[in-house]
Formats: sequence, structure tokens, C-alpha cells
Amino acid sequence: MSFDVQKIRNDFPILSREVNGYPLVYLDNAATSQKPKQVIDCIVDYYSNYNANIHRGVHTLSQEATDAYEASRKKIQTHFNAKEAYEMIFTAGTTHGINLVANGFSEILKKDDEIIVSAMEHHSNIVPWQMLCEKTGAILRVIPMNEEGVLIMEEYEKLLSKKTKLVFVNHISNALGTINPIDEIIAKAHEVGAAVLVDGAQSCSHIKPDLQKLDVDFFVTSAHKMCGPTGVGILYMKEEWGNKLPPYQGGGEMIAEVTFEKTTYAGLPHKFEAGTPNICGGIAFGAAIDYLNDIGFEAIEKHENELLKYATEKLLEIEGMKIYGTGPDKTSVVSFNIEGIHPYDIGTIVDKLGIAVRTGHHCAQPIMDFYKIPGTVRASFAFYNTLEEVDALVNAVKKAKMMLS
Ligand code: PMP
Repeated sequence: MSFDVQKIRNDFPILSREVNGYPLVYLDNAATSQKPKQVIDCIVDYYSNYNANIHRGVHTLSQEATDAYEASRKKIQTHFNAKEAYEMIFTAGTTHGINLVANGFSEILKKDDEIIVSAMEHHSNIVPWQMLCEKTGAILRVIPMNEEGVLIMEEYEKLLSKKTKLVFVNHISNALGTINPIDEIIAKAHEVGAAVLVDGAQSCSHIKPDLQKLDVDFFVTSAHKMCGPTGVGILYMKEEWGNKLPPYQGGGEMIAEVTFEKTTYAGLPHKFEAGTPNICGGIAFGAAIDYLNDIGFEAIEKHENELLKYATEKLLEIEGMKIYGTGPDKTSVVSFNIEGIHPYDIGTIVDKLGIAVRTGHHCAQPIMDFYKIPGTVRASFAFYNTLEEVDALVNAVKKAKMMLS
């Protein structure tokens, strides 16, 4: 499919609505993406035609739902180039996937083992590990970043030692847009025998990670950032880790045999999928991946880079503008403040003009502490945004500045 942004926009019913009397300009894509009709239709089709519980029914509807759910798992495997479909575990999202792995490591880590996080993580890739440290006595180390919002790799190398058991970093920072050098991070961690978890919540809507090539141990993401529904995601774990880690939750679906004396567990992926899953969500996640691949990640990246470049240039023309996250490898997120104005006030005024941006700490308070600010205004672009929408944002920010100065 050739890249025609107007044609693409027609796939998204929500993009034609108005907010406060203005056409909606949706620039909060890092929080969640909008859904094309192909995904919405998939959800309607599931509930209209073959809603049933999966994996245990012999009746036709149950088999149809099981087939569609497992076909979606396979599609997701192919998309991310994992070796086996059973290495792809359906979760409720990134947060769930991280907690599942952290829980598993509570049986692996010992007192004084070390685990490493980066300075630019979302709270969901910090808090579960702090809880793990409290439980096990392991020590949390932090890779620092510089003023540009780029990780200091020399410092990372100094942190690594035989004591390091696990490194967990995001692929792309939701608050800054920085793309982290995860291939290098993974290779260096493996040199000392540490495993790596990559939080791909922000990356998978922009680029297509190749899990085998990365040789990553764990990879997590959420469907809702990729034009799919909320409440569903994927945790990839290498087969060896899947066999090593204990189950997270007990219940139906995850067992081989249950007696009151002893229960044995199912193999991968079911060992980690207790209870009735988000069946419709899992199937619609596959539809979202089809949709993105039909557009093509090269075209997506090219268009989004154009939006980023244009937005950065235009916003920097405003006096008092400061952009956070100015490194060379960046995706389409512009996090900014205007001197003397609270980000919340800018967000509120631009919303009156139909423009959706995010304000606050973006669940990344350590980044805000680093820059000594309460928060930022964050405009995050998707492939369905246009240069005209960037103009609307810039004009609205100028207006807000005039009103607030
Ligand atoms: N990590 C990053 C980098 C994120 O941007 C987000 C969502 N904002 C999460 C983790 C958490 O994702 P979810 O809320 O879908 O579990």
C-alpha cells in the first residue's frame, strides 16, 4: 500500500469528530493509539459471530474462537520474528508482562545480586523491580542519562559485573522519545551472563523489532499502543526462561493435572496464561498487526520522522521553548515546556481548541526530577497525523502562551 495519509485517516472513525467545536487533533498517541475500522470490525465480528470460551470446547464456536486466537498468536510471533509461537504469552499489557517476569525472578535472585534499570523508565518498569528487591534483598542500579536524555553507555558498562542478573530498559522512552541502543545493551549484559528485558510499549507502533536478531530474553508490549484494543499485550520469553520461571498465577488453563495432593503445570505458553483470557482482544491484536504491516513500517517511520522534524522546528520558533529529549535517535515525541508557564495550563488551553496532548510526569517521575521540573507538555505523533495538525498545535501553543504570559 502506498502512503496516503488522507486515505489512512478515513480508516479511523474517531478522527472525524470534533472537540469543543474544533476538529479533533489527536496528539496523545504515546498514551494510546486510535483504532482503525479494520480492528473495530474484527471486535464486532467476534462478538456477533463466534464468541465462545477457548481451548476446552468441542463445539464449533469454541473451535472457531480457539483457531482465531491461536492464529493471532502465530501472527504476532511472525511479526516479531520469535522462534516459536509458544514463546509469545498473551498478557493484559506491558505492566502485566513485567510483573510476571519480576514475580518469576523472586525465586531466582539472591541477596546482593544486582539488577539494572535505566534512568528513563516508565513507572511500570521501575516499581515491580523495587518490590522484587524488597522481597529478595537484591540491589537496584541505575544507568544515568545526560542532559540530552541519552543513556551514558560508559556508565552502564561500569555497572555490569558478575553480580548482575538482569537488565531492564525501555526500547523508546515515552516521556522523551529517545530510542535506546538496545542491541548494545543486550550484548553487553550477555557478556556478564545477565538476562535482559526490553519494554517495547513505545517502540512497536513505530518500528518492527526482530526478537531473534536482538537475542533479547524478555520483550513486552501492549496492543493498545499499536492500534489494537486495551487490556491485551504480549510477553515474549525465550523458551529456556519459560521453562525456568515459575507460573505467575494459578487457575484454569495453566495446569496439566490437578489433585488435592499435587498440581502439575501445562507447558508454554499456557503455564503463564491462567484463567479465561481476553480472547477478543488477542484476536483484534492480530488484526491491528495486519493493519500496520499493510501500511508498512518503513512508510510509517518516514512519515513520523517528517512530523517530528517539522514539529521540532516550528515549536522551537516560540520564545522560551525548551524541548526535553534532544538526542540524535528519537521517535515522534516532543516533550516541552515554555519558560514561566505550567504545562497543565498549556494542555488545558489547547484542549479548548480541540488538541489532545498529555501534560504531567508521564509516569516517569525520575526524568522530571532529573530536569527539576514538575512535568512537560507532550505531543506524540502517529502515522495518521498530518503537517496541518502540527501547525494547529503550534498555533494553539502560541495562543496559550499569549493568554498565560
Ligand atoms: N512502558 C512504557 C514505556 C509505556 O509508555 C507504558 C504506557 N504508557 C507502559 C510501560 C505501560 O503500559 P500499559 O499501561 O499498557 O501496561
